Amino acid sequence: MQPVIALVGRPNVGKSTLFNKLTRSRDALVADQPGLTRDRQFGEGKLGDKPYIVVDTGGLSGEDAELDSLMASQSWLAVEQADIVLFMVDARAGLLPDDHAIAERLRQSGKTLFLVVNKVDGTEAALATAEFHALGLGEPYAIAASQGRGIKPLMEQVLAAL
Ligand code: GDP
Ligand code: MG
Repeated sequence: MQPVIALVGRPNVGKSTLFNKLTRSRDALVADQPGLTRDRQFGEGKLGDKPYIVVDTGGLSGEDAELDSLMASQSWLAVEQADIVLFMVDARAGLLPDDHAIAERLRQSGKTLFLVVNKVDGTEAALATAEFHALGLGEPYAIAASQGRGIKPLMEQVLAAL
């Protein structure tokens, strides 16, 4: 069985961009509009000779009304079915209340979590990730998905955690 890695986080943090890099596909829809990816998307990727399945999701907010929406329930279903969850946040937007709410619910899922701070292009990684330590999910991984920066070291740790 190939390990299943789910990408979750607020809309517009760069989940689909990372999905495309990990799967080298264009299956996921990347857009400036938040929330355009409505359904879960599955793709296959490989690091060296280690294959994995990656699941892109539509995006979450911390609000209960949103959690009840179809998009949100699809995202939580993806979390349930995943071996590892990459929780993505946005260095440009900074740490938002929804990030805290999502983090809390992810913690309750009991899944192996990686905190991924995207969009660190243009800033120093340590500076961009500093505020996200407050989420209490350990050391954040700094990436710039659209540049492909930081993805390999992240995936080496992710696949080593299986
Ligand atoms: P999703 O809603 O989480 O799937 O986010 P998308 O992948 O659709 O990306 C949302 C926006 O962020 C798009 O305009 C992307 O081009 C942009 N984006 C994604 N990754 C990066 C990055 O590493 N740096 C910057 N500056 N923008 C990014
Ligand atoms: Mg998307």
